[in-house]
Parts: sequence; C-alpha cells; structure tokens
Amino acid sequence: MTDLARQVQRLERILEVTHELTSTVALEPLLYRIIHEAAELTDSESASILLLDPRTQQLRFQAATGSASRQLLDIPVPIDGSIAGRVLRDRQPEVVSDVHEEPDYYRTVAEKTGVETHSLAGVPLCIHERCIGVLEAINKREGLFSAEDVDMLSVLAAQAAVAIENARLVTELREAYQELEQLDHMKSDFIAIASHELRSPLGLILGYATSLQQDASPEAAKQLNVVIRAATRLRTIMETMLNLRYLERREIELSVTLLDLAAEVSDISELYRSVAETSGLHLVVDLPDEEVLISADRQRLRVVLENLISNALEFNSPGGTVELAVTREAEEVHIRVSDSGIGIAPEHHAHIFDRFYQVEDPMSRRHGGIGLGLSVVKELVQAHGGRTWVESTLGEGSTFHVVLPLDQPDAFQSTGVGAQPLG
Ligand code: ADP
Repeated sequence: MTDLARQVQRLERILEVTHELTSTVALEPLLYRIIHEAAELTDSESASILLLDPRTQQLRFQAATGSASRQLLDIPVPIDGSIAGRVLRDRQPEVVSDVHEEPDYYRTVAEKTGVETHSLAGVPLCIHERCIGVLEAINKREGLFSAEDVDMLSVLAAQAAVAIENARLVTELREAYQELEQLDHMKSDFIAIASHELRSPLGLILGYATSLQQDASPEAAKQLNVVIRAATRLRTIMETMLNLRYLERREIELSVTLLDLAAEVSDISELYRSVAETSGLHLVVDLPDEEVLISADRQRLRVVLENLISNALEFNSPGGTVELAVTREAEEVHIRVSDSGIGIAPEHHAHIFDRFYQVEDPMSRRHGGIGLGLSVVKELVQAHGGRTWVESTLGEGSTFHVVLPLDQPDAFQSTGVGAQPLG
C-alpha cells in the first residue's frame, strides 16, 4: 500500500470515529472504540485512556485494550513519577522509545499486570485550556513511534476529550434536573401543608363574618362585606393551591357524585353576589329551568367555578357586568363565565392556562392573584372529561367556556359513583 493510500485509510477511520462521536451518547463504547483505533492506527500492542481524578489528584485508567485491560482499571497512577503524569502536567505529547531509561517510568503497572512496557507515545486530553487526562499507545510493534502516529493520537485524544466533556455535561444536567424535581416536590408539599393549615381558621373567619353580617348595622355590614370578600378570595386561592399538588403528581382522585349543575352555579353565584355589589358590578345568572345532571367532584367543580367568577370580578371595573350562563347541549353542558372587563389580547390566549402565567407584569400589575387559577381550572375540567377555552377582546371583556359531559343515565350506572383516578 502506498503512503498516500495508507494515510487516506487512516483518515477514513478517524472520520468514522467522529461520526460515532456525534451520533452516540454512551461514553464507554465510544472510548473503547477510540483506544482500539489508537492501537490499530499506530500499530501498537495496546492503548489506554487515563483520566485525572480531581479528588485524589491521581490518574485512573478509564479504558484500556490488551490482555491486562481489566486489572489496569484498579491501578492508580501518580502525576509525579509517571510518564503519563508528565504528559498531563506539561500538556505536551511525548514519545519514549525505551521507558526503562526514563526516571519517571512508573513500574508498578507492569509489576501488577505482568505486561512489560517498552516504548510509549502519550498525548494529553484537553478541552479548551483544561487537561483532564492522557491517551497512551504502548509498545509499537515495528520501529519507533513517528510524528504521524502522534498526530493520529492527538486527533483521537481530541475526540475522546469532547466525548468525556459531553458525558460530564449530561450527568451534570441530569443531576441538576433531579435536584430541581426534588425542590419542586418540596415546594408543592409546602404549599399543600400551608393551604391545609390555613383552611380551618379561614373557615371560621368566613362563618363568623357571615353570621355577624345578618344582625349588623348597615355600616358594620359594609365593613363585614370587605372581610367576606377578602376571605372568599383567599379561600379560592388556597383551594387552588391545594389542588395543584395532586394535579402535578397526577395523583388526583375525584370524588364523583351525581349533582345538579344549575343548582351549584346558583348557590355559588349567591356567595359572590355581595362581593359583586361591593365592587359596583352587576352579577347576572342565566340558568335553565330544568335540572342539569352531571357526574362531578362537587368540591373541585366549585374550585373551577369560583376561579372563573373571581377572575371575572377581579379584572373588571365598577359599573361592569359578570354573567354566568349554563346551557344544555346534546350530550354536554356548556358553562360561560363572561365579563365586561379589561379583556385579554390575542397573543396571551394560548398561555393564560399555563401555570404562573399572568398577563400583567408581576412588579407593576394592578390586580392580585398568583397565576395558578386557570391552570388548575383547565386540569380539573380535563380530569372531568371536559374542555375549557377563552374568547376575549382587549378592552371589551372575556368569556371563559367550560364544557362538561352531561350525565348519561346508562353511562352513570356503569362508571358508578366514587373515587375516579385521573387518567
Ligand atoms: P391569577 O391568580 O393571576 O388570576 P389565573 O391563572 O386565574 O391567575 O389567571 C392568569 C392571568 O390571566 C391573570 O393574571 C390575568 O392576567 C388573566 N385573566 C384571567 N382571567 C381574566 C379575565 N376574566 N379578564 C382578563 N384577564 C384575565
């Protein structure tokens, strides 16, 4: 074979390694491929990759070919007092034709493996300015290691360095992700515990304020209205946060019962009537005369409706209107919560159901809220087999739509009433 043909063949094999490098994420097979090529292309008995252990500041065999390859993995190599260590320290390739004449030669490896080293070529593994190890070819079969051999090893060492760095980044990313997941779980647990603990005192505040209002003077009733309004809003936020954890972990269990949606909407609208009045808003309720039976988790359904109603009241201005309408359709029930408020620009329509998404800048916004309500609404509606969407014109108002399956007497018999895990 001519020199040129040999050169082309070598380059082709290096190209193959490059291709593998860009198409595989598994580090070990790639490193073994690299040392295998290193040994073949330099016509050596074996090749190995040693990496610097940052904790012990020693070199460790990461991959090796040849009969002693397994044993090598357990033998640490010092930086001072080894040729590989010198290559790493000096960041320079080295060719040694007879290691026994080298004061830095580390004999322990040969003693432990029983494999003698005569000649050696080593190149550093560096990423940018950082050198992390050494690629070595051991015992050239014929003649001495050439400059061409060192070039080949340098190209392969660069490939190995990239592969190792990629693997390190992937591991780091994975660890960071796991840590984030853990933090996210802690956050959700904290939210759930805090909401749960706040539930009872808030229930007391709402209960007492409502009963005090009945016998209060007009002035005191007005003040109690403010208390009730704030407490109602707080309760919606807390119920929303409490549901978030179950939804996040897909652990939600619906406690489904057969209920009349029209009666539920009417009941909730009465709760919000005084809140609307205090804000100078008209609350209009349009319900069908007959029962609208659905199979739903009553408490969760209330979270959905209360979020939509309190948003419609919140993003509105005095003199405005909030309308609740329920219509029966073929096999579904359609709930519309409309307001004549600030409206939502089209570019936000796709995002307002995302967690923590708020249209207004959180630092300068005029309205309260934590940006969770609509995401919980959407997921709870989905858990009930329904769908939700918004129609809105900026400056004119919004209509939030919720469509839920109507109860089918036959279907109800077969699914039954009780706990229903989120699918
Ligand atoms: P928040 O607790 O902030 O109200 P939501 O998830 O309920 O969170 O709503 C997300 C965002 O969508 C709100 O911050 C608001 O910008 C916008 N939004 C929701 N409902 C309305 C509405 N009826 N009118 C105008 N904007 C609304």
